[in-house]
Amino acid sequence: MISEKMKPLVNNNSAIRAMFEEGAQMKAVYGADQVYDFSLGNPNVPAPKEVKEAIYDILENEESTYVHGYMSNAGFPSTRKAIAESLNRRFGTSFGPDNIIMTVGAASGLNVALKTLLNPGDEVVTFAPYFVEYGSYVGNYDGKLVVVPADTKTFQPNLEAFSEKLSEKTRAVIINTPHNPTGVIYSEETLKKLAAILEEQQKKNGSPIFLLSDEPYRELAYDGAVVPYVTKYYNNTIVGYSYSKSLSLPGERIGYLVIPDELEDSETVITAATIATRVSGAVNAPSLMQLVIERCVDAQCDVGYYERNRNALYNGLKELGFECIKPQGAFYLWVKSPVEDEKAFVAKGKEYHILMVPGSSFACPGYVRLAYCVSYETILNSMPAFKALAEEYKL
Ligand code: PLP
Repeated sequence: MISEKMKPLVNNNSAIRAMFEEGAQMKAVYGADQVYDFSLGNPNVPAPKEVKEAIYDILENEESTYVHGYMSNAGFPSTRKAIAESLNRRFGTSFGPDNIIMTVGAASGLNVALKTLLNPGDEVVTFAPYFVEYGSYVGNYDGKLVVVPADTKTFQPNLEAFSEKLSEKTRAVIINTPHNPTGVIYSEETLKKLAAILEEQQKKNGSPIFLLSDEPYRELAYDGAVVPYVTKYYNNTIVGYSYSKSLSLPGERIGYLVIPDELEDSETVITAATIATRVSGAVNAPSLMQLVIERCVDAQCDVGYYERNRNALYNGLKELGFECIKPQGAFYLWVKSPVEDEKAFVAKGKEYHILMVPGSSFACPGYVRLAYCVSYETILNSMPAFKALAEEYKL
């Protein structure tokens, strides 16, 4: 009945749904406050008040045919200008409105970029652990995802293994910083090394390799950590940004791509990406949200809220003897499973009403991910359950 390509996705979806339903069932039986659900990356910090004010202002003061109408497939020129200017102010770049294409979140941005760049059989390299949807996105355009194993000491990209995975078929590389699921931020030094490796491989191949920087967590960085702007290190970079996390708007589906002038054949790539937005079926990013972003271009959610959660969860688990990577950004804690089979650890966690995602869902078994975009009280209340779990494993 359904296509061969969809069959594995349908099977996999049942597993995800089973996890989701199990969580909902546990909450119904024990009460939501007795279940410590760290499974989902859905922001719990409200959108900043500027967003609501902008929505009211637009609806009251703008012509409705303009607010709700079609516009250029790349988005409103005024919105793209506001974003370009904000990036230039903050990162010392020199983008213009033409370098920005509005997208339906980061997911759609990546799809537009991959549709623009990939021929069937092209390879796209990424680093484990990785956001599992990358595999589906690359598969949408008949590309092949090539996975670099993790450097489990630092969870910075494993650059030695990376060089070995590049080939004449490499067309793109996807990085994600700040990172889901580890919370690491790629350092400037790492990005420079990665860029040098790519420059060398481009020369060997005699054709460009594009670096896709997936950045929905750019604004969620802690302890004053700097998130280097990737276009500064490598010309053939496309940045995919999203407001899903930085403004807590995941359901509104709004983000953008940056395609710099320095990128090879940039004018054609920008035109192709604009057409890809149209023919992918998105047509354009949601118009009301584009106008909201134009007014809220420098607004931010309460990053301090996530930082407090990070501190409570990380310090709490460390004290109990768990081995974790201290997150520099995003809102995930990456914890080493006390036993090799992390799925058994996840199952044991459920006995204590703790919901975690196994690392094998990110192509990195032996670890689990905890999403701490939950209430602070959930973290404090979960500590006795984690203590009991630690005792199970004699940590
Ligand atoms: N990339 C990463 C690494 C993510 O974690 C997510 C969402 O969780 C996305 C992309 C998709 O984000 P969006 O909601 O903007 O499509």
